[in-house]
Amino acid sequence: MFDLTGRVALVTGGNGGIGLAMAGALAEAGAKVVLSGRNAEKSAAATEALRSRGFKADAIEADVTDESEVAHLFQQVMLRHGRLDILVNNAGTTVRKPPHELSLDEWHVVIDTNLTSTFLCSRAAHALMKEGGGGKMINIGSMLSIFGAPYAAAYGASKGGVVQFTRSVATSWAADNIQVNAVLPGWIDTDLTRKAREQVKGLHERVLARTPAGHWGIPADLAGIAVFLASSASDFITGTAIPVDGGYSIS
Ligand code: NDP
Repeated sequence: MFDLTGRVALVTGGNGGIGLAMAGALAEAGAKVVLSGRNAEKSAAATEALRSRGFKADAIEADVTDESEVAHLFQQVMLRHGRLDILVNNAGTTVRKPPHELSLDEWHVVIDTNLTSTFLCSRAAHALMKEGGGGKMINIGSMLSIFGAPYAAAYGASKGGVVQFTRSVATSWAADNIQVNAVLPGWIDTDLTRKAREQVKGLHERVLARTPAGHWGIPADLAGIAVFLASSASDFITGTAIPVDGGYSIS
């Protein structure tokens, strides 16, 4: 049920953090994984780390905010691997500032990286998956898809948008046998949140106090949900937004 042998998975932002942990889990379940990011050196190291574990991994550079780079990315996936079964829309960024201090450029960077990229990549993947008879898309939301924060207006808008986008395309593409779901990670220790802990005073302690599990998550905590939502085990699940958060969202 969870076997992904023969499937090809593309993970945007797959060269580190949550994306790399998800890619490793998909590869361990049998998929060939393609990691995408802008930093070629980081992608090469991540690909090598997966290959050294005996997994099939490849890297293709792309800035997912750029429509032509996204088109090139999907062309390359097809040229090199001949199919696409799984897309993880994981690339993400943030600018931590009060909303009244955000410039329009900063707003666009966050919205384009987190939300517009999800549209561009999903649209490109839809055509390929439909042709292949179906597929799985996993969009990465956040606790800020649900809650607000004084330093996260653009990020929260983008991640709320990711959930609503997921619901709409899930209804549209169900007839093509494509299931689209969102995952809402809680507070996970990565480069992104290491910066947050430096920039937002008291964040580390507040997260600890509010998370029933009693600790921050690690990228590997997202491994199981990735395999589940990419596999036939989840074939009747679409349009959902599943928290993976140690209970943060219910406390
Ligand atoms: P990281 O900073 O470790 O990873 C972000 C990834 O996105 C990097 O691989 C980066 O690669 C890639 N990326 C950023 N901008 C672009 C771009 N324009 N084009 C292509 N790739 C890009 O952070 P996380 O692993 O923490 O974050 C992964 C996802 O999880 C994000 O969507 C984030 O919002 C979300 N998330 C994280 C949480 C956490 O607690 N860590 C909580 C909730 C959600 P490169 O630099 O090579 O381009």
